[in-house]
Amino acid sequence: VTFEDFKLNKQLLNAVAEAGFERPTPVQQQAIPLLLAGHDLLGVAQTGTGKTAAFGLPLLMKAKYAQGTHPRALILAPTRELILQIETHLKKLAVYTDLRIVAVYGGVGVKTHSDAVLKGVDVLLATPGRLMELYSRGDLLLKEVKTLVLDEADKMMDMGFMPQIRRLLEVLPRKRQNMLFSATMPAKVEELSAEFLEFPVKIEV
Ligand code: AMP
Repeated sequence: VTFEDFKLNKQLLNAVAEAGFERPTPVQQQAIPLLLAGHDLLGVAQTGTGKTAAFGLPLLMKAKYAQGTHPRALILAPTRELILQIETHLKKLAVYTDLRIVAVYGGVGVKTHSDAVLKGVDVLLATPGRLMELYSRGDLLLKEVKTLVLDEADKMMDMGFMPQIRRLLEVLPRKRQNMLFSATMPAKVEELSAEFLEFPVKIEV
């Protein structure tokens, strides 16, 4: 299997080549075709397996180009470090697109992030607390979100983010594609997946 076997556009294939990825990792081989076909995904995978590109490439493919003001894809992760890591990785893959990728997280004045999202965003990366803070201020409209990713869901549960995620699920449009990644599958994560994934395909690596 090569990246050319997937139905990705030229901009993404060029970025993959430039990143030096020669062939897809196992999680990418399994996840990319399923996600491009529109399925929900439950991925049991650790960091280091290539999961960011596994969800990132189909998500960038679907978002396609800069459009409007409000995010159409939303990626949640538990910590600022992880958000920044995903941001770096995703921006490399999106280098030949015009997609606006914005990262927001706690520990920074909310005004900075408020200004950033008000300028317009296609793909928003966020920690759950900061996301709901911006939403409550009225800085963010979430009605256009078509893709939702929860990364390191086990860690998000451990850090007590379930209430923020529940509130988020209440305000997102019903019709959307969902992905959940977790290194482990404790009962709390099973519960969360049952709540928000629709007929998910499960992959384990
Ligand atoms: P991740 O699991 O998404 O945090 O990725 C771990 C590391 O693997 C990152 O530094 C990626 O740049 C790298 N990586 C992801 N996919 C590939 C691939 N197909 N070939 C080589 N390296 C990759």
